[in-house]
Amino acid sequence: MESLEAELDAARDLEVAELADAIESIGFECTRCGGCCTGYAPDEPGGAPAGATEDGASGDDNGVGSAETDAGCHGGADDPSEGGTDREPHTATVFPDEVRRVADAAEDEFGEAYDWRDVARPMPFGLDEGSDGDPTGETFEWALATDDCGDCTFYEESGGEGACTVHDARPLICRTYPFSVALEGTSQPMGEAVDEAGVVRAHECEGLGRDISRDDAEELAAALKKRAVRELAEAIGVRDGYDPAARDRADGDVVVFDSEGPKEADGTPIGGE
Ligand code: SF4
Repeated sequence: MESLEAELDAARDLEVAELADAIESIGFECTRCGGCCTGYAPDEPGGAPAGATEDGASGDDNGVGSAETDAGCHGGADDPSEGGTDREPHTATVFPDEVRRVADAAEDEFGEAYDWRDVARPMPFGLDEGSDGDPTGETFEWALATDDCGDCTFYEESGGEGACTVHDARPLICRTYPFSVALEGTSQPMGEAVDEAGVVRAHECEGLGRDISRDDAEELAAALKKRAVRELAEAIGVRDGYDPAARDRADGDVVVFDSEGPKEADGTPIGGE
């Protein structure tokens, strides 16, 4: 395995034109099915359209639109808060600067204060369940906050149409779904890789295989390169900022390490001794 620094150099050397060629050859147009913004049933692949309806109705790219029913969650599943179907939560990485940008956008959109926890939750992987049922332990990075349906908290549907309410401030992983690049240290979206061209991987998405314009492919390719560089720089920051003693200084049961150092679950930095 190459070092993160070597992978970061490789990410910086990615040619946007070659990434765009790969995206064009795979093909993509978002159908706004909502699969990459919503929770999903345990037997569904994350990132795929969540519980597409029998008649095929399904909404986002990145602007999203679809089928959360009036009766419950996206795709017709019952709302878990009302005792309905268990759903796996949508889990998309959001970096600390992105958390602040999304919070600002949400405040502008909704005219009320958004704090860190309104935007992000500790990445669940690696956390344990404490005796009180709450999470405990150390984790790395943040995931976008979710609602009772496991859907991204910024995903909205009405009248069969969905949308990202912070579209212009959405994190890079949302901007670039369903694509990733095959470099160690970069993050992979929830959906399984189902197609590839060169270093580009394409993940579960019903919009794959559709024609894409060169301009749109180049725009997506530029964002994909930006994301790969950002993810690797973030991973180096997390590695270098890891402090095993931070947990002793924390007020809460969870410590989250991001590139800015250790934080409480509400985003408050855990200071040094
Ligand atoms: S990017 Fe794909 S999975 Fe996400 S809403 Fe668009 S078509 Fe659906």
